[in-house]
Amino acid sequence: MTGTGGIDSEIRVAIIGSGPSGFYAADHLLKQNEPQIHVDMYERLPTPFGLVRGGVAPDHEKIKSVTKLYSRIAAHERFSFYGNIEFGTDVTRWDLGDHYHGLIYATGAQTDRKLGIPGEDLPNSYAATEFVGWYNGHPDYHDYDFELRGVRRVAVIGVGNVAMDVARILGRTPEELYETDIADYALAALRDSQVEEIYVLGRRGPAQAAFSNPEIKELGELADTDIIVDCDDASLDELSATHLKKARDRSAIRNVKILQSYVDRGATGKSRRIIMRFLVSPTEILGSEKVEAMKLAKNELYLDEHGNLRPRATGQYELLPVDMIFRSVGYRGVPLRDVPFYDRWGTIPNDRGRVLTRHEGREVVAGNYVVGWIKRGPTGIIGTNKPDAVETANCLLADLEAGQVLQPIDTREATIIDMLEARKPAYITFDDWQVLDEIEIQRGAAIGRSRVKFTTVEEMLEALGKTTELVGAPK
Ligand code: NAP
Repeated sequence: MTGTGGIDSEIRVAIIGSGPSGFYAADHLLKQNEPQIHVDMYERLPTPFGLVRGGVAPDHEKIKSVTKLYSRIAAHERFSFYGNIEFGTDVTRWDLGDHYHGLIYATGAQTDRKLGIPGEDLPNSYAATEFVGWYNGHPDYHDYDFELRGVRRVAVIGVGNVAMDVARILGRTPEELYETDIADYALAALRDSQVEEIYVLGRRGPAQAAFSNPEIKELGELADTDIIVDCDDASLDELSATHLKKARDRSAIRNVKILQSYVDRGATGKSRRIIMRFLVSPTEILGSEKVEAMKLAKNELYLDEHGNLRPRATGQYELLPVDMIFRSVGYRGVPLRDVPFYDRWGTIPNDRGRVLTRHEGREVVAGNYVVGWIKRGPTGIIGTNKPDAVETANCLLADLEAGQVLQPIDTREATIIDMLEARKPAYITFDDWQVLDEIEIQRGAAIGRSRVKFTTVEEMLEALGKTTELVGAPK
């Protein structure tokens, strides 16, 4: 790019959220030689990396190693991290507008989608996101009490990769999980688990499952849990068989093959069973004081007007007795204070990453941008966020060149730090995070684990000798 639309101050961009999409956006901005951009990343928690720390399953350590790349980005001289700062509470969009030319929202999808069926809120009916946050030691879920003693049958609703994670973690032995960074309280609860059967329920057929090949393959490789697939469940109906042939969807074809190999294998006498079921939808969760059973409708597929295979009830039902339920039917974004939100999709309305005042509107909110799941919805793997973030960052660069960004009053770092000191003196820098990181790794090394995580904000701040007091208040 050639100019910066007449801006004569230091150019500074704030990124709200420190997950993959935020880091990829930061990387692209920092790589520009002209103009040289300063990037400040704000994070609600004291720890960075979003779902890589709080979502990726503890037994997927290789996936987590992407944080090394993010740490290299954070080491850039024009990058700063301000953790333990909540957007909308500790600082507002208007506060940041005084100091930044652009704001990029990278807050992901922090809650779960609902099924909307009776009994969904009974005790022992959980969102998969709650269980995932809990076993990953996310401070928001630290106080959950997943009592698995006395629980024999569990149902996981949905057949995406999160459902695979939940089923696998429930199916792993404590020995398989010990070396991972799973929260220590979760390891203890799983050690007491009496779960014998884990039902994983898809509303469509095996060819429409959302899980990927490595994830369904991994379910067949657990030390003491068999995977059971009934012949009928792995068979393709006529519509799916035709569709699969036409679409040449290699991943779906492979998924079906893997499931069929489980039919052939059958039970091998392991202590637990993961039972995959397809073409069933829960219509009601039953129980007097807590979950006791689920009413399932048997489905068939039909081709809708857009050429998609959709499920519809056949009128046949069955009752499945279960003690605990995890609804794993997708994540959902939550609104940010003073930022437009499209409730139907749970996203910030945008055009290629430029925030719009409303969905299907054309009016851009100048200087405001969005990346990741809060931009496009909760789909794709970590790497999907890279091109997504680059698209947004390029819009910001073009707007900078055209002078169509925010007009901050003061972009100096010292002024920003003064504001943070006044609002939240216990904010966390990247150096602070690295101290926490090192302590966690050392605590793990002492007992043969990859790390022992801090799981509350208080213990993190205490380890750093910081106060939790909030002084001052946002505008
Ligand atoms: P997802 O991939 O969108 O899967 C959601 C599942 O829920 C689908 O099987 C969907 O079925 C089902 N579902 C939706 N509404 C339902 C309803 N009302 N009743 C019954 N079933 C319903 O979502 P996710 O598993 O939460 O994963 C989110 C994203 O993170 C995905 O892109 C995933 O690949 C990614 N992820 C990746 C990994 C990894 O790479 N290891 C790990 C975790 C997550 P339909 O298809 O019929 O709608």
